[in-house]
Formats: sequence, structure tokens, C-alpha cells
Amino acid sequence: MAEAQISCSKCGKRFPVETVASVNTARDPEGKERILNGALFVHECPHCGQKNLASWPLLYHDPAVRLMVWLSDGNEGTEARMREALSAEGPEEYTLRIVDTPGQLIEKIKIFDAGLDDVVLEMCKFVTRQELGKDVDLLFFGIEGADHEITLTYPEKGEMQLVRIGFNVYEDCAGIVSRNPDIKKAATGLCRVNRGFVEHWLR
Ligand SMILES: [Zn+2]
Repeated sequence: MAEAQISCSKCGKRFPVETVASVNTARDPEGKERILNGALFVHECPHCGQKNLASWPLLYHDPAVRLMVWLSDGNEGTEARMREALSAEGPEEYTLRIVDTPGQLIEKIKIFDAGLDDVVLEMCKFVTRQELGKDVDLLFFGIEGADHEITLTYPEKGEMQLVRIGFNVYEDCAGIVSRNPDIKKAATGLCRVNRGFVEHWLR
């Protein structure tokens, strides 16, 4: 556990915050909770009470679902070192991902906790974007009910909008992925599976 100083976005005063470099959910289930509820990234200013959003590079490791997600700060050198470390360590049958924001990290956790495949889900988002006819960034919100209906969200006019899609859409997309082994192959190793990833294949 380390500390960093941040400047409050409201009053400008500096204050120390705790930075966490890694969370292993087997050893630290509370750490996972603090990621999911945002507590790890929201820092209340002791001077004025303003809630400041700030994050640092973080390795999330959930052995239960064989998932490692690297929350990157965009530093290519650090990313290369992380890629090297993980390929040398060779965690077999692991899903290894890079994300760029805490929101994306939370989404990955929810997707894998739900037992879903993020490549397939990105494809569902692609299809849904086309059906909506809107250029929006969709996020996985949850899956529920006996029908396994999937809920996606996107921001519009300052509010979160919900889109529900049937599980048949997910199954259709899973079919596309399984018929195109190159897509799956491109998603092995430490990589970003996001909108850009899937648009590369469907363009
Ligand atoms: Zn403040």
C-alpha cells in the first residue's frame, strides 16, 4: 500500500490518498468490493468534502474466473513490461486484458463474474449500436432473469439510458466468434478488447 498526493478539484488543496497497485480477489475480497463500488477511485477531500476521481495503474487478479486486468495509465513502457511479465509467468488459460478507465475495469469484472465472454459482448454492443442508430459507448450492466436478458447502458443528455437485449443476440454473436477463430486468437495475451477491437474485425 502506498500513498500519493492529489490536488482537490474544488478547493485546490493537496491531500494524501492511498494507492493500491494490485488486488488479488482470493486474498482481498474487500478490495474487489472497493473497485466495484468505486471507493478505490473516489477520494473525498478532507478540507472541503469534494469527491475527487483519481486512479493509478492497477493489476486486478481473480483466480476464481482466471482473469487478470491491467488498469493502464497509458504508459507504453509500463504496458510492455507488464506484457512481458505476464507472458513469462505464463498463467495458462487466463484471460488477460488491458483497460484504460476504472469504469472499463468494473465492466470487465462484471462480464466475467456473469460467466460471459467479453469478445462476444463487444460484438453484441456493435450490433446494438447499429440497431439504435446511435454512436454511443455502451457498457455491460448486468444479466438477469430466467431469460438471461442482458442490460447495456449508455449516457445520453446527462442520464444513463438502459438497453435490454435478448440472450439470443449474445448466442448469435457467440456463433460468429466461434466461426472466426482469428478473432479469438487476436484476443489472447494481454490486450484491449473494446469497441476498437471488434470494429477492426467487423469493418
Ligand atoms: Zn477540497
